[in-house]
Amino acid sequence: MKTIYDYTYAQFEELMLAQNYKKFRANQIFAWLYKKRVTTFDQMSDISKDTIEWLNSNYTVSPLTIVDKQVSEDKTCKYLFKLSDGSLVESVLMHFDYGKSLCVTSQIGCNMGCKFCASGLLKKKRDCTSGEMVAQVMAVQKELDLDGERLSHVVIMGTGEPFDNYDNVLGFCNTINHDKGLAIGARHITISTCGLVDKILRFSKENVQYNLAISLHAPTDELRSQIMPVNQSFNLNKLMGALNTYLKENNRRLTFEYILLKDVNDSQAMAIKLAQLIRGMNAYVNLIPYNEVDENGYKTSNMKTAMKFYDTLMKNGIKCTLRAKHGDDIDAACGQLRAKHERN
Ligand code: SAH
Repeated sequence: MKTIYDYTYAQFEELMLAQNYKKFRANQIFAWLYKKRVTTFDQMSDISKDTIEWLNSNYTVSPLTIVDKQVSEDKTCKYLFKLSDGSLVESVLMHFDYGKSLCVTSQIGCNMGCKFCASGLLKKKRDCTSGEMVAQVMAVQKELDLDGERLSHVVIMGTGEPFDNYDNVLGFCNTINHDKGLAIGARHITISTCGLVDKILRFSKENVQYNLAISLHAPTDELRSQIMPVNQSFNLNKLMGALNTYLKENNRRLTFEYILLKDVNDSQAMAIKLAQLIRGMNAYVNLIPYNEVDENGYKTSNMKTAMKFYDTLMKNGIKCTLRAKHGDDIDAACGQLRAKHERN
């Protein structure tokens, strides 16, 4: 059965009108879902019996249940959810000084095949619907409600390639951003892509304020094609071209993500090449410590090398941050917890 979370506010208004309901019913029902955060239609006490019956016979509220939860020493919390077809998805809640951020899964498995990533261990089974992404956020927000806390940020950096599930991901962003939905600020929502150039160009024209992050991880075609097969279809020249179009059409700063992989992409020469590649762009680099995955042999760069890489970028005029590690004691890297469950 379809989840009610699949509808953006505009789509839901349209649906209500098509069913001969008054428009304001959409407003009322959305308030029950996203402000009072009820988990059943029966709790909607000012909605008529007929309407509740119609909702119950056509829709579910949440399509997922929590099957596992791991909390790390730094309070990073990893949720494993089961969807109605039995598929497992993960979300990770991180606590920062600027707020609480949830990392959301966009596909069941992933076909991008990045060599260092655990998600690719399980090929894509299907896309998540937008409601299945909304439901991850709602489930975690419900838990935070118990302490009177609020999710302030959402990043689409869990399993999956968001731009390989473009419409559902944008629908999802619309619902959590909408003031009738969760009202999370657009600038607090980040879509991360491995570089699907056609979709970056499409996104450039959406006129939305969501952040765009690019998983770069290598500054040369030779290395990038080795560790990220997507580069064989969309090389750095094409990628940079699309990103420049995005920057021209949107007054927003880009984020480049760069995982530091020991002896693979963390040399001084690579830092200089990276600086040359992105110099002059309205962008900054987020250097990410690698969460080691048992299956593939890649190692985390040591701290000294990471610091040197950071310094070289800074000296070459590139703004960057060296991110602290979160939750590596709880398999918090993309796909790790799920891969473990599916193997057991
Ligand atoms: N497919 C999208 C979003 C999901 S991956 C993308 O590629 O951006 C989110 C980020 O986590 C990407 O930058 C990805 O390269 C990175 N990542 C994957 N495996 C990781 C690991 N084991 N440790 C640290 N980061 C990892």
